[in-house]
Amino acid sequence: GESFIMQGRHFLQIPGPSPVPDRILRAISMPVIDHRSAEFGALGRHVLEASKTVFKTEQPVVIYPSSGTGAWEAAIVNTLSPGDTVLMAETGHFATLWHQIAVKFGIEVEFIPGDWRRGADPATIEARLTEDKARRIKAVMVVHNETSTGATSRIAEIRKAIDAAGHPALFMVDTISSLGSVDYRHDEWRVDVTVSGSQKGLMLPPGLSFNAISEKAFAASKGNKLPRSYWDWQDMVKINATGFFPYTPATNLLYGLKEAIAMLHEEGLDNVFARHKRLAAACRAAVKAWGLEVLCENPAEQSPVLTGVLMPQGHDADRFRKITLEKYNISLGSGLGKVAGKVFRIGHLGECNELTLLGALSGVEMGLAAAGVPHRSGGVDAAMALLRDGAAQGQAPV
Ligand code: PLP
Repeated sequence: GESFIMQGRHFLQIPGPSPVPDRILRAISMPVIDHRSAEFGALGRHVLEASKTVFKTEQPVVIYPSSGTGAWEAAIVNTLSPGDTVLMAETGHFATLWHQIAVKFGIEVEFIPGDWRRGADPATIEARLTEDKARRIKAVMVVHNETSTGATSRIAEIRKAIDAAGHPALFMVDTISSLGSVDYRHDEWRVDVTVSGSQKGLMLPPGLSFNAISEKAFAASKGNKLPRSYWDWQDMVKINATGFFPYTPATNLLYGLKEAIAMLHEEGLDNVFARHKRLAAACRAAVKAWGLEVLCENPAEQSPVLTGVLMPQGHDADRFRKITLEKYNISLGSGLGKVAGKVFRIGHLGECNELTLLGALSGVEMGLAAAGVPHRSGGVDAAMALLRDGAAQGQAPV
């Protein structure tokens, strides 16, 4: 691609990191301040409180200067002990990675197998918990939005499944690619640990991660046996109460976080969620018109954040992505793990509107032609028709 001159703004249409709005870039480009000053304390108190409104919690939210993987590890090391059993669902590549981290810490994982084309099944979780008379399962761990496939899991229904089984397991949910894009309620759904990250729905650069912590999870962290230091909730929550951090925080990303949360509330969280659903429906309409297949088979679980698209047999998704990037300056998501080469992903999250999506879909449609991938034209028209007619209202809730 060295002979190509990329003109105009790059279309970053991967499902995170998502494009960072100019407002947030400006907020970040401030002088670094003394992280022990009164000025920092006010910023710290603000973002620690304001973050709770995005998780819909009144309980502590801790913010780590790390990528999402750190917050995954933090959830495990603060609550579990070596030899504990947890229940997870194989929704895709990210559930598989979280599973592998648990295994590295000596946790026994019961992994409910999945075909990567749907979310975690509440009925299977309920059945497994009901069978567990000895209460060996210490936690149920689910990825809310499986970024590798474009399938969401029904967190409220999984909560009901845990309750129906009368099981005391902790409930831990990865919202790294859903927070700020898909309806989520930490307190109402009685989630014990919600894990998240900065670079998707929060529209920030990579580099911040989060744990929202229930009282039950915090109590578990007082007696569990896994060692930790950097990730330890106890120090973090104690020192956060004053607006400060036990170590040097990512000051400028916190300026960005303050701005991001303000932007989400200016639009209104419900409007943000509705926008994501509307754009996702338009994207799926395009895929259908091209004669291609959406990876997620359950309409009630199709992601508002991204759409995974199956390539026709014998056509390599990565070759198509490379050609599309070189010709049209657009980055699309690759197939990960089991679906590498077979799937590409279109991100429609964060700073994305009707015209951003239509531009991205134009790139995909022209890219399919350029790469010689069998398809029908008219995907962009189908998306426009849907957005124009408001036919994307009344999507199934996720
Ligand atoms: N979980 C999900 C659902 C993700 O989408 C990602 C990253 O894409 C991660 C976990 C890992 O986060 P990070 O790459 O920020 O460490």
